[in-house]
Amino acid sequence: MAVETVNGIVVGCTDYRDNDRMLTLFTAERGRVDCKARNCRKATAPLLACAQPFVYGEYAVFLSGERGTVNAAEVKESFYALREDPDRFLAASMAARLTLSVIEPDAPNEPLFSLLYHTLSFLAYSPAEPMDLLAGFLIRFCDRIGYRPVLTQCAVCRRDVRRDAVLFFSAEAGGTVCVACPHGGKPVNRTALEAMRRMLLLSDAELNQIRMSEPLRRAVLESEHAVLEHALGPTDRGVQLLEQILG
Ligand SMILES: [Zn+2]
Repeated sequence: MAVETVNGIVVGCTDYRDNDRMLTLFTAERGRVDCKARNCRKATAPLLACAQPFVYGEYAVFLSGERGTVNAAEVKESFYALREDPDRFLAASMAARLTLSVIEPDAPNEPLFSLLYHTLSFLAYSPAEPMDLLAGFLIRFCDRIGYRPVLTQCAVCRRDVRRDAVLFFSAEAGGTVCVACPHGGKPVNRTALEAMRRMLLLSDAELNQIRMSEPLRRAVLESEHAVLEHALGPTDRGVQLLEQILG
């Protein structure tokens, strides 16, 4: 097997032995690549800078079997500012952890790669509120894994509900549910539904335009949590992290 060069973001890393680290890269070329970075934890190690969470780099990986080995690597973006702000770090951790849950080997996913890359860039370098960026990431993540919620109709009877005063949100039903239809959802306000609809219309490069009040952000995050819990299960680490944020 030859050495292959991939461009990837570190979405997972686990230390093992004294100086080694197992990396999970989300790469543009191959999707998920799990690889060992040997001797990367010494202060003088050439691989040290490329074996950190959230780093985007070019990795020369010797691929053999399920786990490759990093031969050499070069940092393209360290997104270092993420490490200096707890809220930004938390939002980036959630985005990386959820991505880790859905990516697979030999399955490139350009739309999801673009979403993660732009989200980390804005979290590191833009003045936008990190939890607004996270909310924007989450609804678009739901869409890109095939769980886009129905927002302007009732998911059960398909009636247009944009003028309804009382609405519910049920991830199991597929999104918004009107008052006449059976469901197990929670009340949701129209503003939160409209905010999610608008966040889905943006391009990834416009994510930093999202501005929400604290109550609206919370309502949006609660609905997104319901969708992600339905999609990934209650034991998913990213879903549990979001629960902690919501308190
Ligand atoms: Zn209905």
